[in-house]
Amino acid sequence: MNYSEIADEYEKIEATTKRLEMTDLLVALLKATPNALLDKVVYLTQGKLHPDFEGIEIGVAERSAIRALARASGRKESEIETNLQKSGDVGETAEKFLSKKPQSTLFGAPKSLTVQRVYETLDKMAFSSGSGAVDTKLSLLTGLLSDASPKEAKYILRTVTGNLRLGIADMTVLDALAIAYGGGREAREFIERAYSISSDLGRVARVVAETGIEGIKKYQVTVFEPVRPMLAERLPSAEEILDKFGGKCVAEYKYDGERIQLHKKGDEVVLFSRRLEKISDQYPDAIDLVKKKVCAKEAILEGECVAMDLETGEMRPFQELMHRRRKYGIEKAIGQYPVSLFMFDALYVDGKDYTQEPYLVRRKALENAIAKSDRLTLAKQSLVTNAKDLEAFFEEAIEDGCEGLMCKSVSKESVYQAGARGWLWIKYKRDYKSEMTDTVDLVVVGAIHGRGKRAGAYGALLMATYNKKSDTFETVTKLGTGFTDKDLAQLPEMLRKYEVPRKHSRVQSTLEVDVWFEPAVALEVLGSEITLSPIHTCAMDSIRKGSGLAIRFPRFTGKYRTDKAAEDATTSNEIVEMYRSQLKKIAES
Ligand code: ATP
Repeated sequence: MNYSEIADEYEKIEATTKRLEMTDLLVALLKATPNALLDKVVYLTQGKLHPDFEGIEIGVAERSAIRALARASGRKESEIETNLQKSGDVGETAEKFLSKKPQSTLFGAPKSLTVQRVYETLDKMAFSSGSGAVDTKLSLLTGLLSDASPKEAKYILRTVTGNLRLGIADMTVLDALAIAYGGGREAREFIERAYSISSDLGRVARVVAETGIEGIKKYQVTVFEPVRPMLAERLPSAEEILDKFGGKCVAEYKYDGERIQLHKKGDEVVLFSRRLEKISDQYPDAIDLVKKKVCAKEAILEGECVAMDLETGEMRPFQELMHRRRKYGIEKAIGQYPVSLFMFDALYVDGKDYTQEPYLVRRKALENAIAKSDRLTLAKQSLVTNAKDLEAFFEEAIEDGCEGLMCKSVSKESVYQAGARGWLWIKYKRDYKSEMTDTVDLVVVGAIHGRGKRAGAYGALLMATYNKKSDTFETVTKLGTGFTDKDLAQLPEMLRKYEVPRKHSRVQSTLEVDVWFEPAVALEVLGSEITLSPIHTCAMDSIRKGSGLAIRFPRFTGKYRTDKAAEDATTSNEIVEMYRSQLKKIAES
């Protein structure tokens, strides 16, 4: 397959903003792709080479891209740079300069580029490391560009600099796979489940193309392929929680730490974060604990990693784990900020996939898979059948330094719902007891420049919720308070790499701002109340026609939710739920 086929399709995809059209174009591309290349084409269309959890980036700086383009086009770097400043898009600049390229180049007549060659070259670039890496990458890239048509060069350069941004979200790929290989959109749920338990869209694409829908239905969890985490709904009172569970549930301490999914095979252990990034390097001490205390040979287990005061045995706040997010000096941080693991789920143990088993069966498997110790133990739990006991256990959890409780269904249907936020788990947190609403995690989609004392920093950030159905981000508030001087100084730096020239295609906003961002950074926000709003687009029309929902008096809590991807932010539906329960509370009081 030639790369030009992909480039042609990208051009069409780029020209549409309609998701259905985008899906149709993707279906055509996937159908035209031989099975053996499907995984690669799926990764490429999302600007990647491997699934995210591998953490592999091509990593070509703009400077190198300009240099490679200069060599391939025979033009001066300064000329290219001037054009790039105007266009703001390295792809467009490449297309322009290569269109003017003389027929014969230093490298002889161009050969046509196959997908295989493009992929393998980019992969070599991604894996080149050490002192000669910059030069190696440069010559590999120059080689590709020399054989590329202007259009191909445009997409190659956008890919290597991390600017492909066709706007093809995972959900669109899943729809396209269902149509292309599953017999229709209805097949999407099976394909989505396979994706939820493997986090590898490329692999799922190949399996469904090769084995059809029956094959994909049999897909099982696999050690070292991270499973997308099961998430909880929320309710504000013990009575409502018990009602929802039909009078009985397991209440478990909700530890305030970092969620960890551990994968173990023999002596090899990998830790994945809530957003499925490998974080083994941050917790070598936790890895040792797992090696010593997880007795199962093979396992995928989940738990919360909590900062501890080892002298008093008390739990420390979540923020302390931030000190573990560093490349150097981790040994020192281990001593200063020790951690313990509180385990709460088993997804796979010694050859058996437990994700379809009810919770109590999984908990038993978890118990059998570990040899308890002070530092690696089971999450504390209690089977409750009345609101009084649930309240009492909640108070105990708070007393012990937890955020509250995770209440879990014990019904036969209480399977592990990978990647879903559902009613099998319900969280019960302290915040509900105060006058204020619970905190929410919102995504930064825009910013307004600061004036006066805030000159040079942002005055306010435009924040959005995630609408899972439309796969878009909907504005819900402007956030300007709660920032320390340090926050104000670091935010522009942190957000710069997500700047886009105009409103991002996945952002729904009626407001204008000074700077737009690709939705990527989530911040924890506490507001005073949720109100109907004619200007914010969050959950538009769902409570009243022509109205969205807005959060009033928002305040940054100081928590950067770096453990969350933009799609893990609070959803518009959750805001609707919160709005309704707030109304109920007012009606009751
Ligand atoms: P929050 O914003 O409230 O921390 P979240 O949006 O990150 O929550 P939720 O699904 O709403 O995710 O809350 C579940 C989180 O609580 C889990 O991701 C996990 O990290 C943590 N947790 C702590 N104790 C438990 C437990 N016993 N069982 C399940 N999850 C737990």
